[in-house]
Amino acid sequence: MRVTRNARHPFYERCHEVLDEIRQQGRYRTFTPLSRLTDRFPVYEEGMAPPPEGREVVVWSTNDYLGMGVVPEVMEAAVAAVREHGAGAGGTRNIAGSSPLHTELEAELAALHGKEAGLLFVSGYVSNQATLQTILTSMPGWICFSDQMNHASMIAGIKGARGSQTVIFEHNNLADLEEKLAAAPADAPKLIAFESVYSMDGDISDIAGTCALARKYNALTYLDEVHAVGLYGEEGGGVSQRDAVADQVDIIEGTLAKGFGVHGGYVTASAEIIDFLRSTASGFIFTTALPPSVVGAALVSVKKVRAENWRRDAIFERVHAFRQRLRAAGIPFTMTPSHIIPVPVGDAERCKRISARLLREFGHYATPVNYPTVPVGTERLRLTPGPSHTDEMMDDMVRALSVLFREEGIVHTWQPQPEG
Ligand code: PMP
Repeated sequence: MRVTRNARHPFYERCHEVLDEIRQQGRYRTFTPLSRLTDRFPVYEEGMAPPPEGREVVVWSTNDYLGMGVVPEVMEAAVAAVREHGAGAGGTRNIAGSSPLHTELEAELAALHGKEAGLLFVSGYVSNQATLQTILTSMPGWICFSDQMNHASMIAGIKGARGSQTVIFEHNNLADLEEKLAAAPADAPKLIAFESVYSMDGDISDIAGTCALARKYNALTYLDEVHAVGLYGEEGGGVSQRDAVADQVDIIEGTLAKGFGVHGGYVTASAEIIDFLRSTASGFIFTTALPPSVVGAALVSVKKVRAENWRRDAIFERVHAFRQRLRAAGIPFTMTPSHIIPVPVGDAERCKRISARLLREFGHYATPVNYPTVPVGTERLRLTPGPSHTDEMMDDMVRALSVLFREEGIVHTWQPQPEG
């Protein structure tokens, strides 16, 4: 291939500088393509010795928490939608891109969260970015109170809202939030942006407490339930459903790509907020709609997840079973109130090495989580056991971790804590 570039332009040199720095810090990203039909995946990573021919690999890092992406009815729904509507949407939602599946899924998601209406976006990232940016530029004087640990997509929307003011409050600290709300002008339009389950530490916010403050200081609430939808609440409506406070949250945002195992993002809210976003959010209007196959699969997945409680019971039973094994083996992990199990390593290179050896020598796939996803010094493996991890897979993974942690000299810092 002949590649031409204007090498005199300083940006080419800048690319090399930045990439060299990333490499030196051990943060250069490689992808591991997974070929999957079940939760045991044969994998091959470039630059890494492939596992021996035919060897199966157990994945511990999927965000398809319930395995919905490989449920036959969900896959069949994608195929049926391709046959009926074609491979692509054919346009934006306004211009020839809407199918009946899109509107049905929006109604289903609104019902899931007990809201009047829902709106699909091409991803969870875009739903956060587009919604927050659009709301926070809708009138002068907005102040956005943003949790310190909010996801990059929320930060992108908040930062992109020129003219609005941002106040960052300490992570999950209601006293700090209240102090900051009280210090703001009483008549300024305010919005509190936060998440329910924080994906890297696995902690959960106090939604009721945040909404009480929002009422007291007349703020809107914007809640990202991306890591909670499908898993929490009697129908998988997230932590806000579990805590029976969904009606107190103005805007609930979620993804179809994690607990529902497919793809796409959405927000649900009152009819006028959704109608406003539908008519004004650039990230909704000016992009091709999600393909009908994705929407059809997501629709079946959401319906199944709402109806089938056993999937939620199964994931939490498996998480409990895995923690017990880690504890018995003396492997350090952070006890969280969620399904996410962070295993601290504390060093980027070591973290990558443990992950690479886990795959190469033991056939377990757990991606390292390094800076900038988490702060330097808190590098970790983030494990998410699911309904299809068997006792044998867990025993094998714990044995592998024990060997590697001993060989890599990881200090076992875990202290017994009550199961939460
Ligand atoms: N919010 C949070 C908290 C996330 O972790 C992510 C993705 N990891 C997103 C939003 C974006 O969702 P999606 O992957 O559907 O774009």
